[in-house]
Amino acid sequence: MTPDREIGLTFWNTTDQATRSKARTLLSGVIKERADDLVGLFYSAFLEDREASAFLSHSVVHERLSHSLKGWLFDLLEVDPETGLEAFDERQKQIGEIHARIKIPIHLVMAGASLVKSDLCARLLEQDADRELIAIAVMLLGEIIDYAIRRMSQAYVSGTTRRAQVDEAYRLVSLGQDVSIERESQRAALMEWSQSVLFGLFGSARGVHLEQISQSTFGLWLRHRAGMMFQGSPSLQSVEDAVQQIDSVLLPKINEARSSGNDQLQEAVGRLQTTIEEIKYLLGDLFQSVAGMENARDPLTKTLNRRFLPSILSREISLANSSRTAFTLLMIDVDHFKQINDKWGHAAGDVVLHQIAEVIMDNVRLSDFVFRYGGEEFLVALVETPEERGAEIAERIRSQFVARPLQLPDGSVLTSTVSIGVAGHRGHPDYAHLIDIADKALYRAKAAGRDRIELGAVEGVA
Ligand code: GH3
Ligand code: MG
Ligand code: MG
Repeated sequence: MTPDREIGLTFWNTTDQATRSKARTLLSGVIKERADDLVGLFYSAFLEDREASAFLSHSVVHERLSHSLKGWLFDLLEVDPETGLEAFDERQKQIGEIHARIKIPIHLVMAGASLVKSDLCARLLEQDADRELIAIAVMLLGEIIDYAIRRMSQAYVSGTTRRAQVDEAYRLVSLGQDVSIERESQRAALMEWSQSVLFGLFGSARGVHLEQISQSTFGLWLRHRAGMMFQGSPSLQSVEDAVQQIDSVLLPKINEARSSGNDQLQEAVGRLQTTIEEIKYLLGDLFQSVAGMENARDPLTKTLNRRFLPSILSREISLANSSRTAFTLLMIDVDHFKQINDKWGHAAGDVVLHQIAEVIMDNVRLSDFVFRYGGEEFLVALVETPEERGAEIAERIRSQFVARPLQLPDGSVLTSTVSIGVAGHRGHPDYAHLIDIADKALYRAKAAGRDRIELGAVEGVA
C-alpha cells in the first residue's frame, strides 16, 4: 500500500481491531436500518440537477443505481486495514468510470455522500452506546466515505479527460482535409520567417532588425494551435525547444556578430539553418502523427476505427435522449470465421470481411456509423431508427450476405453467414449498457444455430 492511498485513514489504521469491530457493529445496525431512506436522501441531491434528474426518471437506472448505492453502503462496512484496500479501491474506480461515462456530475455524487454521512452521524449519536465508541464510529465512517469518494473522483477525472482527448482526436479527424492545408501553410510560414532573417542578414534588406521566430506567424501558430493539435507529443516539445534556442541563443549571437563584425557570423548562421531544418523535420513528424489520426477507418473494410466508438456513441445517446428519438445498435459477427481462415486461408478470410462490410454499407445510410468492433465483428449504430426497423435492416444484411457466395480463384465457392444481435435504445444513458444488450442478443443468435438475427431482451439484463 503506498502512503498516498492511506491519506486520511488515520483512524482506520490506528484503532485496534476489537474497537473497530465494535464500531462496525454499531454502524452496521444504523446502515441496515436506514438503507432505503439513505438511497432517497442521496438522490435528493440529484433531483436538484435537471440533467441528472432526467437519468433517474429512467426506471432501470433508478433501480440499478439504488441497488448499487445500497451495495456501496454495505461495502463501507467491509473495508478493513487487515484485509487491504485493493478490492475496495477497484470498486470505487469502476463506479467513478461509470459516472464519467454517463456524465453524472461529480459534485452531485459528493453532495449525495455528504447527505448520507450527516444522516448516519446523526443516527449514530442517538445510539444507546458508549460515547467514545460512538465518536470512533463517526470518525471511521467519515474517513472511509471521504476515502471512497476520493478514489471515485480520481477515476472520474481521468475518465473524463481521456474522453475529451478522444473527442478532440475525432474532431481532428472530421477536419481531415484542413490538417493537410494546415501542414502546408505552416511549412510556408516557417520558410517565410527563415527567408526574412537571411534577407535581413545578406540580402537587399540587409541591416534590418531580425524578427524573433516566436513573434512570427509560425510562432503564433505554435503557441496557440499546435499545442491543441499535438497535445503531449515529444516532437512538439522538441519544436518548442528549438524555437526557444533560436530566440534566446542563436539570434542574439548573430546580432552580436553583426554589430562587432566578428567572424562568428558564419558559424551562427550555419547553426540557425540547421535548427530550422530540424524544425522542418519535426513538423513533418508531428503532422505524420495526425495523419495517423486521420486514419480513422480500418484499411481492410473501410469501417470506423473502434477507438472513436465512445465519443460517437455517447454523443448519439445524448442526442437520442434529448430529442427523444430512437436509436438502434446491431452487433454483427461472421459465423465460423476461424474455419473459413483455416480452410481457405487468411486472404480469403479478408475478402469475406471486405464483403460483409460492403453489404453493411449498402444497407445503412450515410448518417449511420459502422465500426470494426473486433476481428470479424462489426458494430452498427443506426441513428433515428426504432428497433423494429433496425431488425429489418439486420435481416436484409443477413440475407444479402448469404446470397453473395465468393468465387475463389481455384473455382470453388465459399458461402458464409453472419449472426446479428439487435438492440434498441430505451433511454439508458450508458452506451456500454446498449452494447451489452446487443452482444447478448448476438450470443443467443449463435446459440440458436447462427445465420439469424435476435432482438435484445427488454431492459434489466446485466
Ligand atoms: P462464431 O461463429 O462463434 O463467431 O465462430 P468464429 O470462428 O467466427 O469465432 P472466433 O472468434 O473463434 O474466430 C474469429 C477469428 O477471426 C479468429 C481470428 O484469427 C480471425 N480474424 C480476426 N481478424 C482477422 C482479419 O483481419 N483477417 C482474417 N482473415 N481473419 C481474422
Ligand atoms: Mg465469428
Ligand atoms: Mg467474434
